[in-house]
Amino acid sequence: MTTTEQQTWGRTVDGTVLDEALTLYRDLHQHPELSGEEHRTQAAVAAALAATAAEVRTCGGTGLVAVLRNGAGPVVAMRADLDALPLLEDTGLPYASAHPGVMHACGHDVHTASLVGAMTSLDRNRGTWSGTLIGVFQPAEENGAGALAMLDDGLFDDTGLPEVFLGQHVAAAPLGRVLCRPGWFLAAHRSWRVTVRGVGGSGARPHLARDVVVAAATMVVRLQTVVAREIDPFRMVVLTIGDFHAGTKASVMPSEAVFSISSHTYEPEVAERVREAVLRIVQGEAAASGVEVHVEQDPEITGIPATWNDPAENARAAAALAGVFGAEAVRPPEDPLPASDDFSQYAERHGIPSVIWNFGVQDPALHAAAVPAPRNHDARFAPHATGAVEAGIAAAVAVLTARLAPAGAEAVGA
Ligand code: ZN
Ligand code: ZN
Repeated sequence: MTTTEQQTWGRTVDGTVLDEALTLYRDLHQHPELSGEEHRTQAAVAAALAATAAEVRTCGGTGLVAVLRNGAGPVVAMRADLDALPLLEDTGLPYASAHPGVMHACGHDVHTASLVGAMTSLDRNRGTWSGTLIGVFQPAEENGAGALAMLDDGLFDDTGLPEVFLGQHVAAAPLGRVLCRPGWFLAAHRSWRVTVRGVGGSGARPHLARDVVVAAATMVVRLQTVVAREIDPFRMVVLTIGDFHAGTKASVMPSEAVFSISSHTYEPEVAERVREAVLRIVQGEAAASGVEVHVEQDPEITGIPATWNDPAENARAAAALAGVFGAEAVRPPEDPLPASDDFSQYAERHGIPSVIWNFGVQDPALHAAAVPAPRNHDARFAPHATGAVEAGIAAAVAVLTARLAPAGAEAVGA
C-alpha cells in the first residue's frame, strides 16, 4: 500500500483500536474454524468485546449478539461472519493457518476484526452517536445456515427489530475501493442433489442393465440448455454441476449415479423458471433412459435468497463511505456479482431494509501486476492485513455513526 492511499482514509481509525483489531485479525486468521464449528472464534470475539460495555450473549450455536446501548435513537444492526473454508492455505504469511485444510480464504476474519474494532471505537466515542447498535457475529455463512440459525434463536429478542441491517464483505479489489449499488447486489443460490438409479451389471452385457452413467451424463449435457435456451439472455443465471459420482471400474456398470447442481440468479421468477426446467429435464431424461431419478435440495448447503440493497439506505451508506474513501472510490461493481450470501435472510425473514457493500483489501501494486491477484476462495488469497482491517473499521464506523447520528447532528457524515 502506498502512503498516499493510506493517508486518504487511514487517519479516521484510532491507533490503539486498530492495533487491538489487528491482533484479533491475525489470531483469527491463524486459527480458522469451519461453518458451525466456530467455538474458539466465538470465545475470542467475546473476549475482545469484554473491554466494551456491550451486552454479549451466544446465539445460533456458535454465533454471538453484542448490543451496545447509547441513549435514545435508532436501532441499527451490523453483521460480521465468522467461518472459514476447507482449503489448504498457500499464502506463506507468518500468521498463516495453523490448521492444515482450514483457511480464512473469504475474509471473514477481516469482517469480524473490523466489526469488533468499530464497536470498540463507538464504545470509546459515545458523543459521536446515539441509539442502539446490534453487532451480529454470525457463524456458518459458507453453508448458508448461520443467519437462519441466529434468526431462529431469538436474535432480536433483547432489542426489537433494527431499522436497518448492515454488512460488509472484502473484495479482490485495491485498498480504498468500495463497491456498492442500490437494488440487486448478490445472487440467490439454490442447489440440488440428483440421484439416478438403474440396474447395474457387467459392462459386456449392457442390454441386461439400465445404464445410469449414460442417463446422468445426458442430463448434465441437457441441463446446459437451461441457460442457453430457456432464460432471457439479459437475465443473470448461472448453472453449474460441480460434482458427479458413479461407478468404480470400467467394466462394471453401476446401479447409481449422483451429481449436484448449483444455480445463481437474481429475480425470483428466474429462479423459479430454472427450478422448473431442472426438474423437467432430469425427469424427462430419466424416462427416456428407463431409469429412476430422485431430486432433493442439496443437504450440504441451504438455499439463499438474492440480496437487495434498499435504495434509500444504500444512498445513506454510500454518502458516508464517500466521506471516508472519496466520492470517486465508491462505485457500483462493473458487473453484477454472481456470488451469494445468507446476509439476505435478515431482510427475507423480517422485511428489514438492508445494505451490504464490498471493500477492496489488496495492495494496489499487487492488484496492478500482470498476473491477477488471487480472489476469495483461493488458497493464495491474502488481504493486506493493516490496510484491510483499517478499511473495514473506517467503513463500519462511518456508516454506523452516520446512521446513528445524535439528534441535531443529522448533517454530520451524511
Ligand atoms: Zn465465501
Ligand atoms: Zn464470504
